Amino acid sequence: MRKHLWIAGKEVETARYRPLYAPYSGDVLAEIAQASEEDVRNAITAAFHVKDKMKKLSSHERAQILENVVQLLKENRSECAMIIAQEAAKPLKTAYLEVDRTIMTYTFASQEARRLYGESIPLDAAPGGENRVTFTKIEPIGVVAAITPFNFPMNLVAHKVGPAIAGGNTVVLKPASQTPLSALKIAELFHEAGLPSGALNVVTGSGSIIGNALVSDDRINMVTFTGSYEVGKWIRNHSGMKKVTLELGSNSACVIDDGVEIGSIIPKIVTGAFTYQGQVCISIQRIYVHKSLYEPFVEKLIHKTKQLTIGDPLQMETDISAMIHKNEVKRANEWIQEAVKKGAKIAYGGNGTESILHPTVLLNVPKDVKVCCEEVFAPIVVIQPFETFEEAIHEVNDSKYGLQAGVFTNSLANALYAIEELKVGGVMINDIPTYRADHMPYGGVKHSGMGREGIKYALEEMTERKLISFKQI
Ligand code: NAP
Repeated sequence: MRKHLWIAGKEVETARYRPLYAPYSGDVLAEIAQASEEDVRNAITAAFHVKDKMKKLSSHERAQILENVVQLLKENRSECAMIIAQEAAKPLKTAYLEVDRTIMTYTFASQEARRLYGESIPLDAAPGGENRVTFTKIEPIGVVAAITPFNFPMNLVAHKVGPAIAGGNTVVLKPASQTPLSALKIAELFHEAGLPSGALNVVTGSGSIIGNALVSDDRINMVTFTGSYEVGKWIRNHSGMKKVTLELGSNSACVIDDGVEIGSIIPKIVTGAFTYQGQVCISIQRIYVHKSLYEPFVEKLIHKTKQLTIGDPLQMETDISAMIHKNEVKRANEWIQEAVKKGAKIAYGGNGTESILHPTVLLNVPKDVKVCCEEVFAPIVVIQPFETFEEAIHEVNDSKYGLQAGVFTNSLANALYAIEELKVGGVMINDIPTYRADHMPYGGVKHSGMGREGIKYALEEMTERKLISFKQI
């Protein structure tokens, strides 16, 4: 089966196609169009031509299109989950959760489309501003280039396309090479939902080949990117004067304070560390446990981890499956070996197959090795004991990343200390850093990015405030 580009409301053939392999089975899922730079320019032209039409759609019309997409997603829930499970090797039960979150994300987008308010501005607060009626009017930013990663191929597309359409923008979407089918399915559903042709275009193909044509084109008004720090930095450096938002990676940490009842939090920690093979931007990578709890914590965590089912992502009972690519298994194993050479102990895991890395628990890890200080993006956790709460918070902050952190504590004083001191985009007290609801402001500091998503907040990024001032004469 050939999957073409999606430009101006229809499938468009191109010169080059490439097989898409399922990471677990190795089966060829489809032949995917590899867009040329000219295809990218054509997609931008389509988005550019329809931008005035999108701007003129009323907010209730935009909301209705998004509501139609919600309905269609509900009707296509199983097919969508299967697409995610196949192309991303996301275990089916987790793929269903992603589809349900995608439905929620577009639901929030449809609601926000109806409440894009400006505000009245008291210009007379400054001398000379008297006798004016002043307000802001919200306008679309224009043509949005959306570049998305493989790990949430439907919901992270929704976090860009949802607010973009809610705000009256048009979109050229470049999904990850490994997960084009989810994005193409969404384009199909938007078409069926009544979105004007050209308002959502999908160009598939390698980011390193077509990225520059997309982000450097002057007709693009904003680039919204989710992915790795390295690519995000490259995009920012090649986007000129466009607005750029970056949702990047992290090596998220979780602190378990003295006195916490660990039995009840272990299932959450295992979920946060190993769900989708640890390929989640807010996966738990570093765990700091008070020394009084360290040994029972490690023992209970390993006990629970042993219960995870490893295997075929298309089976509902599977918890852990293949990583996105065999090269990623190789890289993760090399990082484990680097840590072991420097004195780390593999308390559990560290084995697997060519395509699967079993959940791995590492102890005694020096903090300058990659599994600790870089984003591991694999099912690996590092557990370290601490003596004082201040020391644990210091360790969490000793990172170039700052996306979210989790802190379990019974002490109000310690919770307040963590809230004040942690240098991250989100602090989850008595929860794992992996918690995300799709309407909350979400994003990082330091190398974890700039700008916020979460529909209302993404809409702020994707719209302009035009100031209108009436002077009495
Ligand atoms: P990635 O390698 O950075 O790729 C992300 C996207 O960028 C893909 O569509 C990729 O296309 C494209 N790309 C690559 N080079 C490009 C270029 N020169 N110009 C334009 N686009 C280019 O990331 P990934 O491996 O897919 O995803 C994992 C990363 O995403 C992790 O670092 C993770 O933490 C991060 N992430 C962050 C969040 C968040 O909200 N903060 C959420 C999810 C994931 P190709 O696939 O064709 O290379």
